[in-house]
Amino acid sequence: QVVTRFAPSPTGFLHIGGARTAMFNWLFARHHGGKALLRIEDTDKARSTPEAIDAIFAGLDWLGLDWDDTPVFQSERAARHAEVAHQLLEAGKAYKCFATAEELEAMRAEQREKKLPMRYDGRWRDRDPSEAPEDAPYVVRLKAPQSGKMTIADQVQGNVTVDTRELDDYVLLRSDGTPTYMLAVVVDDHDMGVTHIIRGDDHLNNAFRQLALIQAMNWPEPVYAHIPLIHGNDGAKLSKRHGALGVEAYRDDMGVVSDAMFNYLLRLGWGYGDREKISRTEAVELFSLANVGKSPSRFDAKKLINLNGQYLREMDDTALAALVAPRVAALMPEFDPTGGIDLLGRAMPVMKLRARDLNELAEGAQFLFKNRPLSMDEKAKSLLDETGIAVLQTVLPVLAEAPSWTAAALEEKLTQFAEAQGHGLGTYAQPLRAALTGQARSPGIFDVLELLGRGESLARINDVTR
Ligand code: GLU
Repeated sequence: QVVTRFAPSPTGFLHIGGARTAMFNWLFARHHGGKALLRIEDTDKARSTPEAIDAIFAGLDWLGLDWDDTPVFQSERAARHAEVAHQLLEAGKAYKCFATAEELEAMRAEQREKKLPMRYDGRWRDRDPSEAPEDAPYVVRLKAPQSGKMTIADQVQGNVTVDTRELDDYVLLRSDGTPTYMLAVVVDDHDMGVTHIIRGDDHLNNAFRQLALIQAMNWPEPVYAHIPLIHGNDGAKLSKRHGALGVEAYRDDMGVVSDAMFNYLLRLGWGYGDREKISRTEAVELFSLANVGKSPSRFDAKKLINLNGQYLREMDDTALAALVAPRVAALMPEFDPTGGIDLLGRAMPVMKLRARDLNELAEGAQFLFKNRPLSMDEKAKSLLDETGIAVLQTVLPVLAEAPSWTAAALEEKLTQFAEAQGHGLGTYAQPLRAALTGQARSPGIFDVLELLGRGESLARINDVTR
């Protein structure tokens, strides 16, 4: 059975790269009918925060990624990690190192001076612990292999080989008995039964060191897939400088919907022919590591927003209105979400044609809920000059007579009237728009009339012609 895991360190929000790693692990497990597990790597107590843990859970939840079993908190497993280190000690595959901090510093200084590779030189590897002063503190180090080569058949990077002489006898247990990150990861992956490790390629070097430990324990080796990191538009590694934010910022600040974010992240480093739009269900069906790109992909916020617009247009109008309502409420205190949600839902079909995010929808919908008399922006004010008012005065009785208050009927009525007057429709549209919305931009004027309804429309025109 396939078992994957997503193992974030909760030191900040769930960023784009982490979200994509989570998604690939989730997709791979779901595609194979396996398990997707979540492990919170919270061993760095100084940098891990409960807020970050909440943000990770919320971000994953928003993206629709669910996890099997209960999440594992790495910090709760320290005793088990230490147990494994002691097993290795007993088996002679790890050893106690009594080197003092000063000693190690001197060793490094010498390596630096001689331009040698900077790594622990194994000075306690073959020494007897009885040579150490009594009660001297020690760390436990892995006896890493000292000759030969080690190859990882990475599912994305291909075969990657290192000379084992490059691996040092790294620390498993610190002198206070706490496990290092390297030990914790290997023990947890083993105990959780992880078969496939899919993560950023910044962990590729660690993989060899982790493999040395796995081999020392005679544990089964996992399959590795190290995916290229995400870059910004300038080709440099993605950072805050590129506007890379936590996923919740794309939702809250940018008004991106979950399906669009999922689709965009999926396409960032994974492809199926040249298909741009792929749903969650299709992604589960189609996902394979073979289609993960070998070179870094570039994050492009514009593409994300355009894709978001496509998703908005396909969304169910009631569901969309439910997402837009709190945003309208945040913009205008007079909006009552309970009373307004119905009108908002009816407005969605015309409004979503042009909008690319939820904020645009919320801003664009405000005119529907304004109290009379409407506040007018500068452009609307200038449209309602003497000429504009005169135009509205002629058109008001025509509209008032309209037998049916639908966009189509109103359009027919006004077109006939405009033709009879020898004018284009444009003469009427802008002053009407100003009077009805307080702005110079809005959905089509007949849609606006229909949405507002007869009474409210006539009252708004009346307010400015009186
Ligand atoms: N906690 C590590 C990180 O957030 C991931 C470790 C792993 O995937 O092996 O970068």
